[in-house]
Amino acid sequence: MKQKYSIMIYMCIWTVAIILLVFSLNQNAGYAKVINYSGIVRGGTQKLVKEELHGVHDEKLLDHLDTIMIELQTGKGPNGLMKIDNTAYQNQLTEMAAIWNEMKQNIQKMDDPQAALRLYELSQDYFDKADEMVNTAQHVSDQKLIQSTLLFLSFIIITSSSFIFWYRSKQKEIRKVMYIDKLTRLPNRTAFELGVQRLIATHKQKYVLLYFDIDDFKYLNGTYGYTCGDQILIGVADAMVEFIQNRGVCARDNSDCFFLLAEFEETIVDQLQNIMKQMVKQKIELDIADDLSFTFGAYEVKNEVPIQDMIDNVILAHKNAKALGRGNIIWYNQELLNRLLQESLFIKQMHTALKQNEFRLYLQPKFEIDTLKITGAESLMRWHMQDGRIIYPDTFISLFEKNGYIYDLDFYMLERTCEFLQRNQCFDFTISVNFSRVSIHHKDFYEHLHAVINAYQIPVSCIEIEITESAFNGLSHTILTILRRLSNDGFLISMDDFGSGYSSLNLLTAMQVDILKIDRAFLEEQNDKKKKIIKLIVELAATLHMRVICEGVETEADVELLRAVRCQLGQGYYISKPIPAEAFSEKYLQKHKTAG
Ligand code: C2E
Ligand code: CA
Ligand code: CA
Repeated sequence: MKQKYSIMIYMCIWTVAIILLVFSLNQNAGYAKVINYSGIVRGGTQKLVKEELHGVHDEKLLDHLDTIMIELQTGKGPNGLMKIDNTAYQNQLTEMAAIWNEMKQNIQKMDDPQAALRLYELSQDYFDKADEMVNTAQHVSDQKLIQSTLLFLSFIIITSSSFIFWYRSKQKEIRKVMYIDKLTRLPNRTAFELGVQRLIATHKQKYVLLYFDIDDFKYLNGTYGYTCGDQILIGVADAMVEFIQNRGVCARDNSDCFFLLAEFEETIVDQLQNIMKQMVKQKIELDIADDLSFTFGAYEVKNEVPIQDMIDNVILAHKNAKALGRGNIIWYNQELLNRLLQESLFIKQMHTALKQNEFRLYLQPKFEIDTLKITGAESLMRWHMQDGRIIYPDTFISLFEKNGYIYDLDFYMLERTCEFLQRNQCFDFTISVNFSRVSIHHKDFYEHLHAVINAYQIPVSCIEIEITESAFNGLSHTILTILRRLSNDGFLISMDDFGSGYSSLNLLTAMQVDILKIDRAFLEEQNDKKKKIIKLIVELAATLHMRVICEGVETEADVELLRAVRCQLGQGYYISKPIPAEAFSEKYLQKHKTAG
């Protein structure tokens, strides 16, 4: 609640209290006045009687006393006296009024000695009654004072305590909104920071800070509905609470991202994942808990590091784990920092590197499995840095995909390839060029490709466009149209790393792929299953009128396997590693030309 409003409410309470106080003081002043006038009536009557007995008639005093008497009884008159509503007091007044009336009658007949005697007697009675009346008035006034003091105090106590109670509950509510996540009842990031600070300041254990999210949570929400999504989040939250058992802190950051600080254990991530899956299984009837996976950033807590930095570090680790794909975990450590440092260096140097021809064309031959004859090559880039280091593309491709620079780089490699073909005048030779999905998404891709080919006057049949399988996943209609147009224009299109990603066999029919390039993973650690899969892919390709090439051919055994399953083409260290373009032309093109 805003400070302004609480001050206003408090001021209202005090204003009412002050009004009550003024009212009760005013009432007390009224009582005092009545007591005072009762005294006047008592004394004044004695004076009047004394004067009458001495033969002096004071009409003015008599009228004055008469007026007071009436005013005391009715509360109406020129002296501003109040009527005291007390039965004993009013009875005494009535009795006094009766005596007073008799006294007035006797005053009228003062010539009669009997009347004078009677007046004297009556004045004695009157005095006694007046005395009683003053005492009663005093008593009533005291009681009223006690009552109004008690009332005032009760008002102050009740209103103040209810205000304090209300204020506290409001504060609690505000704290809840500020610190608690509504859905999962977990603390939020602000509360988490406070909790972590408190815990690591008072405990000396070794702690680990985790930041994680649920993989493909958007997909789960979309497929199974938001209620199910909410249940997953609640399940994860409950599991975290059970896992830390008051010995750590956990929180929901936003959407499906969570924080957890717990004592360090080697297997902490595995344990946590298991318990989260189990809990989700209990919450939802659908059998999706088994497929649930999480991506983690992890940070080993160092007490001297400010909490904000710890959080930044673990989020950075999580971001990098995310880039690796689902189910990964990355620890924030020197290795990660070095990599990030290197990446920022790459970004700084990329423009000058391109201008100074630091990206070089390497070629790796492709060959016929049956004859080992070279039929083409793949263009692969290497970064020759000025300090003499040679950087491999896996280190920087994804980085340049992220910042969009890959488009320039892919076309640079296409130009080097075209230049190479033109320089060597080999137009019956096909070189495959890798294009990132980012480049294909570029609006100028199609026109740019033709412009380069035309500029170097290279027949389209010399260029094969190699696109990694995962790039086909989720390709939009426009992209499919572009690829179909390129295929119609005569370019060969190959699906790289086939079998490594999300294979959508449907896509093979949806678009014109000429060549399937089987991922090298199928030749690594050969076994019967993998062999059968290669065989199936070869047969599938034959049915769809596609050619098949297998990557990563390293040994004689690999060649024999491919021969056995009737795979036509291969590429790999068995024939050659990727080598600089000049070396390639010397080593293979002369032979190719002579052979041709
Ligand atoms: P990729 O297209 O799958 O290229 C094949 C990779 O496998 C190459 O790594 C190559 O050196 C390696 N390789 C070839 N034969 C063997 C073998 O027998 N055994 C083993 N273990 N490896 C073999 P490289 O040159 O480091 O390229 C890595 C990836 O970088 C490429 O994978 C490709 O995706 C990407 N890349 C390379 N050049 C370009 C480019 O100009 N543009 C784009 N967008 N990506 C490129
Ligand atoms: Ca490739
Ligand atoms: Ca490949």
